[in-house]
Amino acid sequence: MEPILRIENIDKYYGNKSNLTKALSHLSLNIDKGEFVAIMGASGSGKTTLLNCVSTIDRVTAGHIYVGKTDITKLKGNHLNRFRREELGFIFQDFNLLDNFSIEDNIKLPLVLAGEDYKKMDAKVQKAAGQLGIVELLKKYPYEVSGGQKQRTAIARALITNPRILLADEPTGALDSKAATNLLKQLREINQTGQTILMVTHSNVAASYADRVMFIKDGEVFHQIYRGDMTRSALLDKICDAVTVLMRGGEDSES
Ligand code: ADP
Repeated sequence: MEPILRIENIDKYYGNKSNLTKALSHLSLNIDKGEFVAIMGASGSGKTTLLNCVSTIDRVTAGHIYVGKTDITKLKGNHLNRFRREELGFIFQDFNLLDNFSIEDNIKLPLVLAGEDYKKMDAKVQKAAGQLGIVELLKKYPYEVSGGQKQRTAIARALITNPRILLADEPTGALDSKAATNLLKQLREINQTGQTILMVTHSNVAASYADRVMFIKDGEVFHQIYRGDMTRSALLDKICDAVTVLMRGGEDSES
């Protein structure tokens, strides 16, 4: 299968000659269409940097990142903005909803920014809200709904443009365990409709919902676990073992 995301030998440095930090080092990775990949690693290992480079928020120092046939490290100006708006969906730990916008208007925002035909917007909002089970919340405001419902709103907003890749940065980090479990089940259902997902997480449980778990250490791929035929709980056991090995080898004990 042709990968939807091809990361080729990327380096990312921060700082200047006298104070250089290497955040990513010769990192390569392919993700197939429809895969659900979790990225794990200790704090400072390069997870956010990797996600930021894929999401074009940050620029690589060397190497290439292809989404389909497009080398996104070469995109600039309007091409870059359009790519980010139309081809990628984002969800964040803290939801990033606009407080003064209703749930409906938050979901609709990417379509407004893309100049979508006004008549088509409502049908798309209804469909996305229906998929996430939040139709009855559309007229409410973020402060009137729970954390889990806010994150569902954020997912509906991310999916409304039909992105090639859904990028998730600690999507359950601000949720209690029940809401987190519901959200992870929802992400898995969305993935099973064919949506490619790349998720950064510290949580072993969250990672166990993925098809593949990739561990990063010092900006390099350290280890990968493929779900294959494993049950979620068997995958969770393997993740816990790998995290133990990873932590034993490093000085950082963040889980
Ligand atoms: P993680 O998300 O795994 O915690 P990061 O990608 O945030 O790791 O960081 C990787 C490395 O790059 C760390 O050493 C971090 O201190 C450094 N780093 C990240 N962002 C910056 C920045 N804007 N300026 C300088 N160093 C940075």
